[in-house]
Amino acid sequence: MIGRFAPSPTGPLHFGSLLAALASYCEAKSQGGRWLVRMEDIDKPREMAGTADHILHTLEAFGFEWDGAVVYQSQRTPLYQEALGQLKAKSLIYNCDCSRKEIADSAQQGIDGLVYPGTCRHKTAIKSPHASRLIVDSNPISFQDAIQGQIQQNLAHSVGDFVLKRADGLCAYQLAVVVDDLEQGISHIVRGADLLDSTPRQIYLQQLLGHPTLQYAHIPVASNAAREKLSKQTLAPAIDAAQASTLLTHALNFLGQQAPKDLTSHSANDILQWAKQHWAINKVARQRSIVLS
Ligand code: GLU
Repeated sequence: MIGRFAPSPTGPLHFGSLLAALASYCEAKSQGGRWLVRMEDIDKPREMAGTADHILHTLEAFGFEWDGAVVYQSQRTPLYQEALGQLKAKSLIYNCDCSRKEIADSAQQGIDGLVYPGTCRHKTAIKSPHASRLIVDSNPISFQDAIQGQIQQNLAHSVGDFVLKRADGLCAYQLAVVVDDLEQGISHIVRGADLLDSTPRQIYLQQLLGHPTLQYAHIPVASNAAREKLSKQTLAPAIDAAQASTLLTHALNFLGQQAPKDLTSHSANDILQWAKQHWAINKVARQRSIVLS
């Protein structure tokens, strides 16, 4: 069993990221598995300088220990190119020069933004710069999420042909995450439910690259009083290592783990020990989001 935490270094860790780190760590460690950290720094333009190191120091201060060296997506472009090449060889990739406006003018709302209407599938002359899209089909993709239950999605109806390589030349998240999870031998993915709707795209890519579906568990995301997901965009405060014990206990309770009241008076390491020993994924609420009290 191998789990992972895969932060994007676009800002310091906040309470929402702590939940994903803690849940993925407990799920792997409670079963004697390995837990890896992968820095998803593929989107260099969105990166905040110094954040990757800051994230790792914060994880350490909260008592987390990862197995093996941290993997940086920015150093793995050849792996992503290779996977793209495999898909091209199957004639599943086409170039697309549609602007955002062109897509907005002709597309319908889908599960995660607009459904790409396939405009460039049959175009012969494509301008540069252009993106590379993956052809999807309408066979339903289903999987059993350990927290959210049975999930089914029809990619053709809900997403459309999606981008694997962006017009600026960067590899898209969906491709990088699938290639890395496979290459690192990840078996169990525990992360925020904001990524639940991306999972069928990732399962489809795994299938095309000849791999079995991984095990998934999507924890509820923490949202603020305005019901917005805590994120860098909603200006969620950075977690403070001086508050590690309080925040870890709070995170365990958010995840339904019923931490004893006096746990906050213990060190972060002791709290993680308790968490590993008592972790029960079936106690995590089957909700996509929970408003922080
Ligand atoms: N890097 C993504 C994020 O920070 C997480 C990706 C994943 O867990 O699949 O939201």
